[in-house]
Amino acid sequence: METSSAKIDIVQNLKQVKTLMLDALKKAERGGQDVTLVAVSKFHDASRIRPVLEAGHRTFGENRVQEAQEKWPDLRADFPDVQLHLIGPLQTNKVKQAVATFDVIESVDREKLARALAREFEASGRALPVFLQINTGEEPQKAGVMPLEADDFIQLCRNDLGLNVQGLMCIPPAAEEPALHFALLSKIAARNGLKCLSMGMSGDFATALELGATHVRVGTAIFGQR
Ligand SMILES: *Cc1c(COP(=O)(O)O)cnc(C)c1O
Repeated sequence: METSSAKIDIVQNLKQVKTLMLDALKKAERGGQDVTLVAVSKFHDASRIRPVLEAGHRTFGENRVQEAQEKWPDLRADFPDVQLHLIGPLQTNKVKQAVATFDVIESVDREKLARALAREFEASGRALPVFLQINTGEEPQKAGVMPLEADDFIQLCRNDLGLNVQGLMCIPPAAEEPALHFALLSKIAARNGLKCLSMGMSGDFATALELGATHVRVGTAIFGQR
């Protein structure tokens, strides 16, 4: 059981993040623009998620298919208009479950996955919006398409596979200035006519919003440490 004070903290954190988002948008002269806060609830159980739903928030991010399958059906029963984003790596053998569980796939990071998703969207009749993950820091251990291969990958996903590509997503290297990575992602999206940019987490969402983020993925600043 969560104590009620923890619930109050979470709801206050949510308000605080929204206020900081509005400040950053104003500073960037993007006041009035619609930006989506993806509340990242990975590793937090339903008792911590429920207060955020009760406060009216509906867009959440999870990074594991199985965890989402365990937590979200009950929450969805009570809050049917939830929008659940997959933000973590997806194995092709979990594509079917992922498409049934999520509403947006933000982590399309390789051709094999893009093809498997295209097949499942066709088979299930549930064609989800997707984001393509770009490895802006060219880190070998990190998922995502290299910046130099991004244009071809976008073209493949959009034109050849017919995916509903909404935009791009990145996770900058932990030790680098995130602004450089956000600017690079924005540039790649712009030259490909993509409108959405999923970038910015608890530590850098204000910077991301100043550089054009349309979606920020914030976990710790709302739910506390995992
Ligand atoms: C966990 C996670 C986040 C949220 O990170 P915080 O620093 O807790 O806000 C955002 N994006 C991805 C892809 C994640 O895995």
